Amino acid sequence: MSLAGLMQRQSLLISDLLAHAATYHGDVEIVSHLHAGEVRRSNWRTVAHRAAQLAHALPTLGVAQGDRVATLAWNSDRHLELYYAVAGTGAVLHTVNPRLFPEQIAYILGHAADGVVFFDLDFADLLVKMAPQLTGVKRFVALCRADQLPTLDLPHLVSYESLIEGLPQQYDWPDLDEATASSMCYTSGTTGNPKGVLYSHRSTVLHSFALCAADGMALSARDSVLLAVPMFHVNAWGVPYAAAMCGAKLVLPGSGLSGERLYAHMVNEACTFSLGVPTVWLGFFQYIDQQGVALDLRALRLQRVVVGGSAAPRALIEKFEEKLGVFVIQSWGMTETSPVSTVVSLLPKHAGQALSDRFAVQSRQGRAIFGVEVAVFGADGQRLPHDGKSVGEIRVRGPWVLCAYYGNAPDSALDAQGWFSTGDVAYIDPDGFVQITDRSKDVIKSGGEWISSIDLENAAVGHPSVREAAVIGVPHSKWQERPLLIVVLKPGETLTGPQMMEFLTDRVVRWWLPDDVVFVDELPHTATGKLLKTRLREQFRDHRLPTDVA
Ligand code: AMP
Repeated sequence: MSLAGLMQRQSLLISDLLAHAATYHGDVEIVSHLHAGEVRRSNWRTVAHRAAQLAHALPTLGVAQGDRVATLAWNSDRHLELYYAVAGTGAVLHTVNPRLFPEQIAYILGHAADGVVFFDLDFADLLVKMAPQLTGVKRFVALCRADQLPTLDLPHLVSYESLIEGLPQQYDWPDLDEATASSMCYTSGTTGNPKGVLYSHRSTVLHSFALCAADGMALSARDSVLLAVPMFHVNAWGVPYAAAMCGAKLVLPGSGLSGERLYAHMVNEACTFSLGVPTVWLGFFQYIDQQGVALDLRALRLQRVVVGGSAAPRALIEKFEEKLGVFVIQSWGMTETSPVSTVVSLLPKHAGQALSDRFAVQSRQGRAIFGVEVAVFGADGQRLPHDGKSVGEIRVRGPWVLCAYYGNAPDSALDAQGWFSTGDVAYIDPDGFVQITDRSKDVIKSGGEWISSIDLENAAVGHPSVREAAVIGVPHSKWQERPLLIVVLKPGETLTGPQMMEFLTDRVVRWWLPDDVVFVDELPHTATGKLLKTRLREQFRDHRLPTDVA
């Protein structure tokens, strides 16, 4: 018979993260750039006081334990207070992506049965237009002061500041079961309706430990973090929680993610660490390149940048290192995995290696961190070896991976062995580094062999004139499918199809070379900035490849 350990059974709770930050890192700043240029300087102590005030206010809005509370908001201290107050009281914070189509937002708010919506004034018009469809929403709270609140045709509208004003700055946070739901996000879904993922206090706290671990993201009290990933995108990759765990400073940029704004925040707030999707960083370097010598890059204190959400192009990794001396931590994950699952962190064998070899390591999606088991399975359901060549679908399992979508039966998203199928296609090398080659639905199958659209896209954006590139498979009478490269050029640049092909010749294997190159002004994206390939496939469905002579 097993013997019970004699350790305390204290729940892992989000309210304890904030209590810790307020006690040990109370003076550490939280800097927010709000609507219309307003800047607010807060700190962890004040966030804790105001989260307590908000917790006292929630019952006055009719919010009880288990209820869902929606936000349509940029990154700010008020949004951070909502993260802690809502979850801390046992309700569920539902961060809605405001970039979704209005019909999708209405669907999500209805599906989650949100009774209250907290919103930034930027989304006031959107909500007023949608209000007749939002029959379940009883109350609206604008994230502003009373004197900033416009007259809006929304029921029971109050300003955030008048809601919490005068309420006690201490709150007796309940000792919840750690399995209690704390927050929820809907997958952006390129097809079908979005699906809800429901995180728990336990999964969130465990995920925070992983972000603070040395071989996770090494987030620490010495970091000043520019959060360039939105707080409505998978809890800003968990950083608002992990930053409280370690007492990091947070710089919350509101809606302003232009290269110019990000650069200014980094300099002004001595940021050491930042995170964002590749598109954000492409804009950042566009600004730096345009400014040229007018910028004194030595003013930057940046050391590490996490790039995730889409594959980090090698050209971006090189630029960060060569221009700014910044190490790019590529990370892979998804809404369903909280999101961090694999992280690039170097091994002893990589010490002293040539930069070009190191870039190759960083161009992969990284290795599994403890807490997420990552495996690749073949079409026949067999687990594939870590041999650097066997390509299959990634499946994951672990304490911060979902077991079912919101509203479905527990474990309904898992197979009999408890694995969640991610839909990403990859191989794993003998060191455990994952290399994603595609989403399963984006894979190009040419004559029975797979061509990686991601590798081709990364090679194409390595060209100095290219801003963005997408590769899709189009029908071919001999090969079933062949790759078509669709390119957006940087402003003022010119490039021809043959020049692009010549550039790619040394960079990808010959039979992967696209059969055609087309230039467009822009590419369609999902609400989280990923290429919307379904739209591209529709758009180019009848594209006739010059190689298809049948
Ligand atoms: P989301 O749930 O919106 O965060 O999207 C998750 C998906 O983004 C994953 O399933 C991948 O297809 C993609 N993704 C995330 N990070 C990476 C990465 N580092 N490299 C390639 N694809 C990524």
